[in-house]
Amino acid sequence: MSAKFNISFAKSAALEDAIAVLLQAAGEDAPAGTQQADPGGVIPKAAKIAGFSAKSMSVLDVLAPHNSDADRIVVLGLGKAGKLTAHDWLRAGGVAAANFKKASKVVIYADAPGVDVDGEAASGIALGLLLRAYSFDAYKTKKKSDDEKTPKTVEITIVTTAHDAAEKAFKTAQAVADGVNLARELVNLPPNVLGPEEFADKAVELQKLGVEVEILGEKEMKKLGMGALLGVAQGSVRPPRLAVMQWKGGSKKDEPIAFVGKGVVFDTGGISLKPGAGMEDMKGDMGGAAAVTGLMHVLAARKAKVNVVGVIGLVENMPDGNAQRPGDIVTSMSGQTIEIINTDAEGRLVLADALWYTNDRFKPKFMINLATLTGAVTVALGNLQAGLFSNDDELSARLSTAGDVTEEKLWRLPLGKDYDKIIDSKFADMKNSAGRLAGSITAAQFLKRFVGDTPWAHLDIAGTAMGSPLTEINQSWGSGYGVRLLNELVRAHYED
Ligand code: MN
Ligand code: ZN
Repeated sequence: MSAKFNISFAKSAALEDAIAVLLQAAGEDAPAGTQQADPGGVIPKAAKIAGFSAKSMSVLDVLAPHNSDADRIVVLGLGKAGKLTAHDWLRAGGVAAANFKKASKVVIYADAPGVDVDGEAASGIALGLLLRAYSFDAYKTKKKSDDEKTPKTVEITIVTTAHDAAEKAFKTAQAVADGVNLARELVNLPPNVLGPEEFADKAVELQKLGVEVEILGEKEMKKLGMGALLGVAQGSVRPPRLAVMQWKGGSKKDEPIAFVGKGVVFDTGGISLKPGAGMEDMKGDMGGAAAVTGLMHVLAARKAKVNVVGVIGLVENMPDGNAQRPGDIVTSMSGQTIEIINTDAEGRLVLADALWYTNDRFKPKFMINLATLTGAVTVALGNLQAGLFSNDDELSARLSTAGDVTEEKLWRLPLGKDYDKIIDSKFADMKNSAGRLAGSITAAQFLKRFVGDTPWAHLDIAGTAMGSPLTEINQSWGSGYGVRLLNELVRAHYED
């Protein structure tokens, strides 16, 4: 189970039975909290012996001297003060948490000499702590060793003169951490446990935060003419769901902004069956829907002053006597017909109807969809950045900036008429797969045919939603990618 961190902010704290974490900028003689934790001044000598120079995210771990009240002292390097970014405070929190070991009481001295530590910085440390604390081990019935038995609760005090401002900012940080960790959990959960209905139930749980949630079943979707989404779902014994979440935090007359997620709870490829190796990872093919759900959690929990719609299409893609075939032609809600070339190109079919429905019903200011859409995007960008496709330069630029701020990075790839032509079909209006070349782009062109003139961006998160490199603030396979990114986008541009 994830460690539970009880975090508070204060201008001072008692050190008995605690480990003291002291932050230090490079080039400064002493870390924060030296007087309290190291009255005898042993740290400079320890630093010299260990060659510790407070490089960014480096750690000096010393047994506390006898005249200190603390049990252990961890000095955490911040690097050059002038180069610190907002994201570095999260990383510092993550690195601190990685060094708690068995401590159940921790005091973090944040006011590093030479650094301007405000409420945002101090609450950034707290956010890093909470993100690092998440781990998915609900199904581990035995712990391997005592060392892995994390204490249930860790009392953490962050000591800073900015404690009042930090306390305020922490409300938002807590909301963000909860939303990211929710998205991670959804991605990590096994597919037998999280089917379309169970996922829809998770969306319904957001009602307790004030989110209005409607769940559409097969009957309603049939009535709406969602033949593309339903075609994918027909091979599974588990019926599809479309969850519609609304957070109305803005003024009544404001059109909403909209986020749409691909929620394929498991993708076998269908009749165009995937190879067996690694197929278990396809439990994460609902990473887009997880990010949208996590984002809705954040926005509602922090009472964002904006009207937001979150729509997620929840289906399972299975081979079956009733599964759709290559060669089938389905009619989408838009009326456009689609020839199925490859039943493994199912995410775009789900999104085609989800995007059209969202645009048609809500007339949003913009739509952003997230989807673990193509393996091709991982060939292009690896697990390090998501692919960004957009019909709107302003929205695209704002997304890229939010990506840089949150380190949930995006790289824009092209769209264009020549790429669009590739998905024309001999027998229908379009085909759902055009082969390997430019596979991520042709997938995006497909989606573009369902968004009309509405400003829109598609984030292909196949490489980043799961299995991306572990970081100071993420030790989970399901990364929660996209939640912090889109929360930052909303915060920076779309709140009253
Ligand atoms: Mn697929
Ligand atoms: Zn898929």
